[in-house]
Amino acid sequence: MSQTLKAVRGTRDLLPPETELWNRIDRTARAVFARYNFGEIRTPIFEDTSLFARGVGEETDIVSKEMFTWEDRGRAQSERNQLLTLRPENTAGVVRAYIEHKLGESGQLQKLYYIGPQFRRERPQKGRFRQFYQIGAEVIGPPSAGSESPLRDAEVLEMLATFLDELGITGWTLHLNSVGSSADRARYNETLREALVPVVGQMCEDCQRRAVTNPLRVLDCKVPADQPIIETLPKIADALDEESKTHFAAVLAALDAAGVPYTRNDRLVRGLDYYTRTTFEFTHGGLGAQNALLGGGRYDGLSEALGGPRAPGIGFAMGEDRLVLTLLDQNAAQAQKVDAYIAPLGDPKDEAALARINAAALALARELRRGGLSIELGDGGFRLKKSFEMADKAARRIVILGEDEVRSGILTVKTFATGEQAKVPRAELTVYLAKPASA
Ligand code: AMP
Repeated sequence: MSQTLKAVRGTRDLLPPETELWNRIDRTARAVFARYNFGEIRTPIFEDTSLFARGVGEETDIVSKEMFTWEDRGRAQSERNQLLTLRPENTAGVVRAYIEHKLGESGQLQKLYYIGPQFRRERPQKGRFRQFYQIGAEVIGPPSAGSESPLRDAEVLEMLATFLDELGITGWTLHLNSVGSSADRARYNETLREALVPVVGQMCEDCQRRAVTNPLRVLDCKVPADQPIIETLPKIADALDEESKTHFAAVLAALDAAGVPYTRNDRLVRGLDYYTRTTFEFTHGGLGAQNALLGGGRYDGLSEALGGPRAPGIGFAMGEDRLVLTLLDQNAAQAQKVDAYIAPLGDPKDEAALARINAAALALARELRRGGLSIELGDGGFRLKKSFEMADKAARRIVILGEDEVRSGILTVKTFATGEQAKVPRAELTVYLAKPASA
């Protein structure tokens, strides 16, 4: 016997009723983002590998270990040996599109959101997959459009708080930090490198490596024994220049004025190279080890790093898988019942009669569905008991359609929640079935 095929490790199928929850999250995101005047962008799922090498950073875990990359087999000379990568994140693609389509030339801020799959070869665990889904947005534009303003940072954070509240996710925490300008960051990295020399020998292997390649990442370390050492290291807040400090203070003041709660976290430096100034993360306690619902920040030098014009920006990416997990924990994924189950009642021994009643049932279902109702259609070959059992699982009401009902145009309807049974003329059926069905 041949081996059965399964979804590849780290990937999975999303099935109803959970997919309804995914759709609700998508709908809520689209509705909230529209109120803030964001438009949707859809970029390709794969890009030239060098986009991520340059846009995310060669030193990052994403680029150095986690990308799905292949050499293309294109026949044309220009495509031969081209290295392509499934996108591990979407900001680089959005900024590439911003540059490619010269969106900055409008002189306006570009406010773009995306929803879609991303790919990283990470070790799968709860809340961590190799194909996962992000909902993200970017605000980017020339400085003359106000793209550097701290008000943009605060507005994006306020929008996220509103989105999570509207989705019904309770108990989130916004962690906020500033990593300063790229000069501040470089300076701080050096300070950290020096401060690490006498202590790094007592730290974990990862930290020993990071102390050499990217000292900032030491602050991400979760190993308990390393924590007291990390606490003694210099803080990035002390390395910020006056401009970065003023910018951060203005972000905090705007959040205070809008009533968005936050926690300052001076260890929040995030894994991607391109962040400058404001960085943030929203966490949720119910998620366990992978507790970040979303992360983001400012990336004032990214466009230039990709060969584009100066275009400061701020953005975020939410892990949709983790939004779903959080809502599932809050019991938000209840199977939705349809408005009615139509139970055609035929004589199983009379094929012609059965075909007639099934045809009449399809016509009735068509009429009700076109009237806006959700309908599950049974089969004339089922016994009445079976129809009732199936209807009770799937629908709020059952509509019986036998030869008598077809002839008289009066249908028998039972409402499960109340046990109420009624004779309803066909012309009144749509209105009857649209009524609430609770006790
Ligand atoms: P990042 O692009 O690394 O800043 O991640 C932004 C958000 O995407 C995180 O806060 C997570 O919610 C989500 N995320 C990142 N990697 C994964 C993954 N492998 N599986 C599921 N969600 C992820």
